[in-house]
Amino acid sequence: MIQKCEHCRTPFAWGQIFKSLWFAFQPVTCRNCGTEHKVANASRLMAVMLLLVPVIVVFIFMENSSIVMPLLLIIAADSLLLPFILKYEKLEKQLDTNNGNR
Ligand SMILES: [Zn+2]
Repeated sequence: MIQKCEHCRTPFAWGQIFKSLWFAFQPVTCRNCGTEHKVANASRLMAVMLLLVPVIVVFIFMENSSIVMPLLLIIAADSLLLPFILKYEKLEKQLDTNNGNR
């Protein structure tokens, strides 16, 4: 199922994760409470694999003239599926706000 906010359990919108995905795994901010979530490292790796492996297969096995459609299909399939597969975790960054170092 699609990810929920770890703080308030509000489900992320598919479009939020989609955007995060195609902008180099930007953190997703909860629409309800504003908590930032980043893609878990394992999910990041999986997303790259799911994108790269089919692309490489297409490049190896297809004629140059016919790779556009398969590539578009791969991108479409990944865009649809990855928001449901990727795991997001709460971004912990409150710890480093000037802790008396002045
Ligand atoms: Zn939230």
